[in-house]
Amino acid sequence: MTDTPINTLADTLAGPAAALEAIATVMPVRKTRCTLAGKRIGKLDVDPVKGFAAVGGGNLAPPVANAQVARMIAEIDRTNRLFIEAQRPIAVFLDTHEPGKPEHPYPPHCEIGTGEENLVDELAWLEWAPGVTLMRKDCINGVVGMTELATGKNLLLDWIVGNGIETLVVDGICTDICVLQAVQSLLSARNHGMTGPLREIVVHEPGCATYDLSLETAQRIGLPDTAAHPQRVAHHIGLYLMQASGAVIAEELVF
Ligand SMILES: [Zn+2]
Repeated sequence: MTDTPINTLADTLAGPAAALEAIATVMPVRKTRCTLAGKRIGKLDVDPVKGFAAVGGGNLAPPVANAQVARMIAEIDRTNRLFIEAQRPIAVFLDTHEPGKPEHPYPPHCEIGTGEENLVDELAWLEWAPGVTLMRKDCINGVVGMTELATGKNLLLDWIVGNGIETLVVDGICTDICVLQAVQSLLSARNHGMTGPLREIVVHEPGCATYDLSLETAQRIGLPDTAAHPQRVAHHIGLYLMQASGAVIAEELVF
C-alpha cells in the first residue's frame, strides 16, 4: 500500500484525459436535447463576471485563454438573446465581496470597485437588457446569498415564483462549485415546496465552465495537492452530481 493520493496516482499514470474517460465510464452523464417550446421558462446565469471568466481578470480568473470558458460566454450570450426574444426573464448572479472581507478558502476576488465583480465585456449588454435582473451575492451558494438577513425573504425564490417559472435553465461558472450549489439548493427548495410552480431545472452544459488547475501547477505554486482541479474532470463531476440530484443536463436547447 502507498499513501499516494489518488489524484496523484491518476495523473501520474495516465493523466486527466484518461481519468475523465474512466470516470465517465462508471459515472456517466446523459445529455439531452431539451425542448423549451410551450414551457414557462426562465434562466439563471451564475457568475459570468470578470473575476471568474475574463482572461487575466483576477486571482480566480483564467490566466490564459481557455476554450471551455470562451464557449460558456458565447453560449450565455447566444441563449440569453433567445430568452429575451421570447420575453422570458433572466436572473444573473454576480459574485461580489466587500473589500478586505475574505471568503474562505479562496483568495481575494470580485471585491467591490475592482471591476472583477462586474459582467465580462462580452455580456456587459445584459445590465441594460429587458427582463434581466442582476443579483449580487457574497457566497458560493447563490440561493443562500439571495436571502435577506433582515427579513428572511429570498430574492431568487421570489423571482421564480413571481415570474411563474416552471422550467429554469441554469448555466455559468463554476460547474462544480457555484452552479452545482445553486442547482442542488433549488432542487431541495422545490421539493420542500418553496419555489411555486417550478417543476424542472435544466443545466445547459455548453453554457457552463469551470477552472483548470493541474496537479503539477498546484504543486509548483506551493498549493497542496488537494487543490488540483483538472478542468474537464471537475466539469464532468459537477454535471454528474447535478444529474444525480434530479437536474436535466442539456446539450442543446430547442426553442
Ligand atoms: Zn466569492
